[in-house]
Parts: sequence; C-alpha cells; structure tokens
Amino acid sequence: MTMATQARFMIALVLIILPVGCGKSEIAPGKMLVAASIAPIYHFAQQVGGDRVEVVLLVPPGSNPHTYQIQPNQMSALSKASVLALNGVDLEFWADKAIDAAHNTTLIVVRTADGLSIIEESHEGEHGNPHVWLDPINAIHQVQSIRDAFIKSDPAHASEYEINAERYIERLRKLDSEIRAEVAGFSHKSFVTFHPTWTYFAQRYGLTQAAEIEPSPGKEPSPRDIAHAIKMARETNSRAIFAEPQMSPKAAHVVAEEANAKVLLLDAFGAPPDYDYIDNMRTNLKLMAEALK
Ligand SMILES: [Zn+2]
Repeated sequence: MTMATQARFMIALVLIILPVGCGKSEIAPGKMLVAASIAPIYHFAQQVGGDRVEVVLLVPPGSNPHTYQIQPNQMSALSKASVLALNGVDLEFWADKAIDAAHNTTLIVVRTADGLSIIEESHEGEHGNPHVWLDPINAIHQVQSIRDAFIKSDPAHASEYEINAERYIERLRKLDSEIRAEVAGFSHKSFVTFHPTWTYFAQRYGLTQAAEIEPSPGKEPSPRDIAHAIKMARETNSRAIFAEPQMSPKAAHVVAEEANAKVLLLDAFGAPPDYDYIDNMRTNLKLMAEALK
C-alpha cells in the first residue's frame, strides 16, 4: 500500500465510522430522536417537539424526494429513532424496506398525510399526488399527526407537545388567511407547472393548474409533452410556469418563452437548517403574486 492509497483508505474508513445521520450517542440526554423524511415534515417535527426532540432529516436538501434513495449510512438514525415522521402517499417509496432493515421494535412510524383526501393523479403513480403540505390546512393535519406520534412515544411530555402544536397551528391558520387574501387579488388564476407540486394549493385557493410539463416524476419531458404544455398555456392565457430548484427548469423555460409566460422558481421542499415552512410559503406566494396579480 502506497502512502496515497493508505491515506485514501483512512479517509474511507473515517467516512464509514462517522455516518451522516447522527446516532443516539450524539443526542443530548433526555431528548427524543426523530427521523423525518423531507424538510417540511422535519420542520413540523421541530415545531411540535421543541427542545424535547432532536430531528434528523433523511432526504438531503436539493435532492429530488421522488427519486432520492435512502443511504445505508442513514440506517443508524432509523435504528435508534423513537419516531419516523413521513409525508406518506408513497413519496417515501423506500420507507417499508428501510423500516424492516432498521430492526427497531419501538419505532413509531407516522405517515402524516394519512386521513387527508388525496388527489388521484395518474402521473404521480397509482397512489396519488403526495404534495399535500403545500396546503396549510393539510399541514395542520400533518402537525396534529406528528403531535399524536410524539405523545404516543413520550407520554410524559404530552402537554408540551400539545401546547407547541396548538401554537404552531395558530400560525398556520394565519398563513391560510394571508394566502386567501393575497390570491383573491390575482387577476390571472391559471398556471402551467413543470411538476404537479402545487395542486393542493391550487385546489384550496381557487387557482387552475392548466397543464403539467413533466410526464412523471424524474422523467424528461418529450417534445410532445412540451408542445402540449405550450398549447395549454396559450389557451388558458397562463402568465406563469411553476418550476422547482430540485428539478431541471429547462423545459419550463421553453414553454414560458413560447407562451409568453414567466418561469417562477418555487421551492416546495426547502433546505434546512435555514428553512421555515411559513417563511417559505410567504416567499413562494410573493413570487406567484408578481406574475399573477
Ligand atoms: Zn410530485
């Protein structure tokens, strides 16, 4: 072994020993370890848990949650966690396998979208559109589901979780009113989207998603998909094409140019640690208002 190979070997060894997901050994005493799939769920878990919990994010910021596969070095977090908070509607296609592999008999798994009315959409796969959290009223349900899971896992601190959840739900109700008031002032209610991320939001606030460019998550749109989106954008006089930083905006720009619309880079997932669901929703709303008012 040369010195260089030896050094590389040592680095590899260190990477194996220090997994990305932190284990209970790094958790302050008395804290509950929670694994959360995507940023909004991670944030809700933090809001409900406060100082009582340590939340680990499983799908890293910037990656597309539709295609991200949980890594072996994240399993240590799952094997030690008290709660696994998921969005559900099969967004976490890797979950069942990962839960099996974690061999964690006390793990409480909460699929926070369970109980919500799911929009069936063929191109999101057979189980429907998973982007429920972009409707703050749905987010309230998700926060309540997380609260209930925390209480089940840690009943001694039930009242704390209840108070935290109630306080946050209050803020979500305020956000809902803000969005309602802002969208009422939009003169254009139609948009074309790269991917049907804002479908629940549109349904809640009376916007119309005229077309989707991407045929299915992670699949490149064909010239035919793009032509259809252009046609729909023109027919509905859509001023905005919704795109996302986690997905290539190329096709969205082509449609926008042809339909004389504007590409809005809306972040539906966010990037912790500097991420706040309510701030993120306000930023997205502001971008929408600039194009649709
Ligand atoms: Zn999607």
